[in-house]
Amino acid sequence: MKITVVGAGVWGTSTAYYLRKMGVQVELIDMWGPGNVRSGSGGASRIIRLVYGPDDVYIDLTARSFHLWNDLFQKNAKDYYQETGLLWLFSQEDDSYAADSKRRIEALGFELEELDITDTQLAYPQISLTGIRKVYFEDKAGILYASKCCELLLQRFQEIGGHYMTGHATVDEQSSDFSLLINGKKAVSDQYIFACGPWTRNLFPGLLKKYTYVSKQDVYHFVIPPERMRLFDTSHLPVWLDYNVESPLYYGMPMHLAKGFKIAYDDRSEIFNPDQDDRLPNLTHLTKARKFIDHRFPLLTQAPVAYTEVCQYDNSLDGHFIVDMHPQFKNVLVMTGSSGHGFKMGPALGETVSRHLLKGSPLPEQFRLNRFLNKSVVQSQFIQKEKKH
Ligand SMILES: Cc1cc2nc3c(=O)[nH]c(=O)nc-3n(C[C@H](O)[C@H](O)[C@H](O)COP(=O)(O)OP(=O)(O)OC[C@H]3O[C@@H](n4cnc5c(N)ncnc54)[C@H](O)[C@@H]3O)c2cc1C
Repeated sequence: MKITVVGAGVWGTSTAYYLRKMGVQVELIDMWGPGNVRSGSGGASRIIRLVYGPDDVYIDLTARSFHLWNDLFQKNAKDYYQETGLLWLFSQEDDSYAADSKRRIEALGFELEELDITDTQLAYPQISLTGIRKVYFEDKAGILYASKCCELLLQRFQEIGGHYMTGHATVDEQSSDFSLLINGKKAVSDQYIFACGPWTRNLFPGLLKKYTYVSKQDVYHFVIPPERMRLFDTSHLPVWLDYNVESPLYYGMPMHLAKGFKIAYDDRSEIFNPDQDDRLPNLTHLTKARKFIDHRFPLLTQAPVAYTEVCQYDNSLDGHFIVDMHPQFKNVLVMTGSSGHGFKMGPALGETVSRHLLKGSPLPEQFRLNRFLNKSVVQSQFIQKEKKH
């Protein structure tokens, strides 16, 4: 059996790796390469954490991924992952996003602890907890060095005989017979997987355009003054997330990979074309991020920007992943809609898809396309609003 996987982001490369591990002949293709700068997986760093409100499916996939990432790192985990813990800051009384995960997290053998606010303030003088009503600490969480992890996945795939090539894929969704062209030449396989991030919707517009959209996401790394470096390093500051439903949700990381203090936001309102739009940061968002820093990290007020990244979220309408067979082509599976939270789960998702294709185990219902047929909702992983069209 031969399977072609198109897209070598974390989802495609992980899937190619686990398929190959299960003995399949696998060809992996990407137009720019694993973890390239335009891909969602191409950032320097991504958070791995277990808290996911009541969505057990993501808690389970993340728990499994911790294990699989460790296997992939072998003895070199420090080159790919930094464990810092994650501080959840709630500026609202409703802490259900953390509280609803607690039972599942603990059942899987991990920890999530509610902290006293005064104690937290004493422990982290570099954060101002003004307005914070609840605090939780997740100890098994941290920073995955994303593009390095993608290179590692490709290396592991090739070590076990997987075949990778650079090439641009096109398909004709209108045709009744499925055919894949790579750089204009027909490529034949028994099974095809498309994990092309925000480009998947361009390959299958009829199936996906109405259920997905792409948003621009800026990431800023600020300079930490030399005398404050210690307070903002990974030994003294965990990854943090300022959870609220009123304004953009900010999150960030201590100094890592010598890039500075990282901040990003979870607003998905700026639509982005990954092929045509410039990857330049938006100054209005930068001004807002600075205001947030003044408020929450006053020791960094007026810190200059050291480095920026512009990326995109490949959003589904409801914030849940899309992993399903194409209803028209029985040997085509699509993986898209990672909605700004798919990196951490790449390995477990790749394993799940491989088991589905080779052993018939079911795909998670939450990820099936037929969920969109009955209701129309606009959500994100954090905020869930029902919207009538
Ligand atoms: C700013 C930002 C912060 C994020 N933070 C987190 C986080 O903290 N934790 C987390 O878990 N997730 C996070 N995410 C989300 C995560 O990065 C993505 O969900 C994940 O990387 C998506 O991986 P993917 O493999 O689906 O897609 P991608 O990484 O986009 O890969 C798609 C690949 O397909 C290739 N391709 C596309 N079209 C074609 C074609 N026609 N032919 C050949 N190849 C093609 C591309 O070159 C690309 O390499 C974040 C995303 C962003 C943008």
